[in-house]
Amino acid sequence: MNNKQTTVSEEHLLYFQQLLGNRVHTGEAVTAHYASDHTEDFVFYPAVVVKPESTEEVSAILRYCYEHDLIVTPSGARTGLSGGALANHGGVLLSLERMNRILEIDEHNHQVTTEPGVITEVLQQAVREKGLFYPPDPASKGSCFIGGNIAENSGGPKAVKYGVTKDWVLNLEIVLPTGEIMWTGANVIKNATGYNLTQLVIGSEGTLAVVTKIVLRLIPHPTQTLLMLVPFRQGTQACEAVSKIFMAGIIPSGLEYMDRDAILYTIPHVDDAPDILKDDHDAHLLIELDGFNLDVMMLDCEKIMELMEQFDIDEILFAESEAQKESLWKLRRKVGEAVKSHSIYKEEDTVVPRFQLPQLLSAVKRIGKAYGFQAVCYGHAGDGNLHVNILKGTLSDEAWHNQLPKAIRELFTEVVKLGGTISGEHGIGLVQRPFMDIAFSDIQLDLMRSIKQVFDPKGLLNPGKIFPDKVI
Ligand SMILES: Cc1cc2nc3c(=O)[nH]c(=O)nc-3n(C[C@H](O)[C@H](O)[C@H](O)COP(=O)(O)OP(=O)(O)OC[C@H]3O[C@@H](n4cnc5c(N)ncnc54)[C@H](O)[C@@H]3O)c2cc1C
Repeated sequence: MNNKQTTVSEEHLLYFQQLLGNRVHTGEAVTAHYASDHTEDFVFYPAVVVKPESTEEVSAILRYCYEHDLIVTPSGARTGLSGGALANHGGVLLSLERMNRILEIDEHNHQVTTEPGVITEVLQQAVREKGLFYPPDPASKGSCFIGGNIAENSGGPKAVKYGVTKDWVLNLEIVLPTGEIMWTGANVIKNATGYNLTQLVIGSEGTLAVVTKIVLRLIPHPTQTLLMLVPFRQGTQACEAVSKIFMAGIIPSGLEYMDRDAILYTIPHVDDAPDILKDDHDAHLLIELDGFNLDVMMLDCEKIMELMEQFDIDEILFAESEAQKESLWKLRRKVGEAVKSHSIYKEEDTVVPRFQLPQLLSAVKRIGKAYGFQAVCYGHAGDGNLHVNILKGTLSDEAWHNQLPKAIRELFTEVVKLGGTISGEHGIGLVQRPFMDIAFSDIQLDLMRSIKQVFDPKGLLNPGKIFPDKVI
């Protein structure tokens, strides 16, 4: 670790207090909230939590930390699933929660400028009031921050039609680890000017810079949605049906897969859960269409129904009211949390080209059987993105700690063979680092390390994330 400081002296605290007043927490005032995120059961307490309210304050904090070799971990809402916001080296936790203002909704240009600490759904609702749409909607949209979405390049159900966070970002204001403030691009929808620093920062998991302002593009908000739930008697057939929908020329605005167990475990966690699970249901597809013309959408809906007849399905449920639609989406959004409350778990975020989805599902189940663990699968099937929740259940501690990493390695190797990669939207953070060699060669990893070195020569910003083995 060289001379990097994981603890913070009285002198440092005094500096932060002079800068931020009571927006500095240390000792007992650092609550458990700042020691964990939503990744398994990790707990790492930072030495101090600082809560800037402006870019200038972020800059002053980073400059001071750089001069005094203090480790800094940027933190959003702490809903991350790969441990990116964990202060695994102690040091300073820089929470963006007080930078929570939407600065401008530009209706002329269909753009919004926001600070990073705005909750994603709050941003979506604010632009919706102007008839505008910001589509990326991680299932955590009611609690995660837009800055965290940028850092993770988050997806969500609507990515299948509208793309992920990166597809909506025009420009970012960032603060470099040395404290310098800069914009990465321009507020334009076309930009062929030099290297694309905006896209480099997106998905960099708080390891290159701290994002302090975000300019997003918007589109008119669709006025209609249709939602259907299709029960399949075989999960692999549900996966086969996914690419058939696209091959018929239809692009749904949501196409989600849920294993039987995913629904079974989630129903008790949802008030007034819809009664949808029958004994012979192995998996469900939740399919949403959106648009402006209901007649056109109904035609697509009929085409989907015809396609589904090729498969062994039970009766399709069409949501008849907004309340029923919300109830089905609520069930889907709760799956991750519900399944994880069932047992000690590990979550993987596999992604393959969507035609390969049936092979991915079969591989997960086969590897689970070989190693003796239960794997509950759900996720964004339209993107080929399957979340695999591995439950410890009655597995021995020995098998969990020693055999499971081998099983995960086998799964990821299979994923890469299928043309996919090891994280679709949750990022690498702390937990997936040991597997990066499966996705990337040494030359690719060295190039990424060199980029990190240019942005952060002292390796003080969020160290111990993304890169395997050596901490840079
Ligand atoms: C129930 C549940 C459902 C979820 N569903 C989805 C889903 O559908 N799709 C999806 O993609 N993800 C999903 N997630 C994962 C998570 O919500 C996203 O990764 C989200 O973007 C994290 O945002 P956050 O504000 O909580 O970030 P945090 O967890 O606080 O931080 C995540 C990373 O971003 C960095 N960071 C945060 N803010 C900044 C900033 N301003 N500048 C630089 N770096 C920063 C941190 O250092 C860390 O590396 C889900 C999580 C939960 C708990």
